[in-house]
Amino acid sequence: MRVRALIREHSDHAPLCISLCDTNFGPKPFRWFDSWIDRPGCEDVVNSVLIGWCNDGPADLNLLRKLRTLRDKLKWWINECRAKENENEKSLKQEKEDMEWLMEQKDLDESELWVWSECSKSLQEIELYRSRDMKQKSWVKWASLGDENTSFFHSVVNGRKARNALPGLEWEWRSEPSSPEEINELFSLLSDIYDYVWKGGNDDWRWKADANGEFSVNKAKSLMFNCHRPITNIHMKWKGWVPLKCKIMVWRAMLNLMPTKVELCKRGVTLPSDLCNLCDSELETTNHLFTGCVFAVEIWSRVESWCRLPPIFAFDVSDFLKIANLQATSKHSRYILRGIVFTTLWAIWNERNDRIFKGKRCRAIEVVESIKMISYFWFRNRTRLKGIDWNVWCKYPLVLM
Ligand SMILES: [Zn+2]
Repeated sequence: MRVRALIREHSDHAPLCISLCDTNFGPKPFRWFDSWIDRPGCEDVVNSVLIGWCNDGPADLNLLRKLRTLRDKLKWWINECRAKENENEKSLKQEKEDMEWLMEQKDLDESELWVWSECSKSLQEIELYRSRDMKQKSWVKWASLGDENTSFFHSVVNGRKARNALPGLEWEWRSEPSSPEEINELFSLLSDIYDYVWKGGNDDWRWKADANGEFSVNKAKSLMFNCHRPITNIHMKWKGWVPLKCKIMVWRAMLNLMPTKVELCKRGVTLPSDLCNLCDSELETTNHLFTGCVFAVEIWSRVESWCRLPPIFAFDVSDFLKIANLQATSKHSRYILRGIVFTTLWAIWNERNDRIFKGKRCRAIEVVESIKMISYFWFRNRTRLKGIDWNVWCKYPLVLM
């Protein structure tokens, strides 16, 4: 309603003119979506209008014309884009479904896997554009409707559910499988369980290398020879007077197969800290624990002076295995020294375990005392030299033979 006072002319009253009219709010406002910037072609559309624009007439009218042309072009472009996207989505979905059907029949080869992962990636991209637009829209709605609008969250949650759905299975991903290794693992898992009909009951262990699921040493051997092993050119000497458990530990340390905190973290184990318990300052890797750690360095330097060796420079565990060959002069002293090096590695690992699992802490000097004791005990009981003297062993063990 509009009220206007007319000019007083012949009467002593000013006439009021009341007019009623339908309010015209104009055309629906044009809304720009942030996701457009990332779509291919957007910049070209804008450039096609702005570059070479002919500025004539009054500046405000000129600007108005410019914006209108830009709006029309953008509208046309985004409609084209969305139509293409829908087409594309349909064919991608079809292709992905075909691959998944194929996957249930056989193992996919690398190129087929690639197609599958590319389809998934492109579908996710399309979904991302849409969810960004929806998010922007819902923010606008929030501004006017308050906090009641949850449709955005519902649509995202439902989208996630739909993506993870597989008939008969409910996935609970910690993170979406995305790397080629993860996708490979997922497929081999799917092929493992494809024929399986679950009839209830408890899980049990089965030996996969054998058709009957029964373990045999023979099968294990052939598995070991067929599978990938870490490459090392260090020859491990298995002959010696330390027990097998100690040799196996050293061998694992040499191949970086110890369950150190860094390795556990890599495999998804959640730990309160990945710092070394011996020094509390650096990451616990195999190399750090046995060579770089200040605590280990002190132990090695005390072992050096006990065995009267020149300073040991070790950068990884395999360097320790060379010490006996490099530093001992006779065959016998090599034999003894190799065992002492193994015992030292063993003691460092045990000190680490005692600190973590038993809350017990020894000083480096105490660890070295236990190295002397353990090695004396093993040497005395596991070689033919039964009568060796404890005092001689403590003074200089390499003179014994
Ligand atoms: Zn350390």
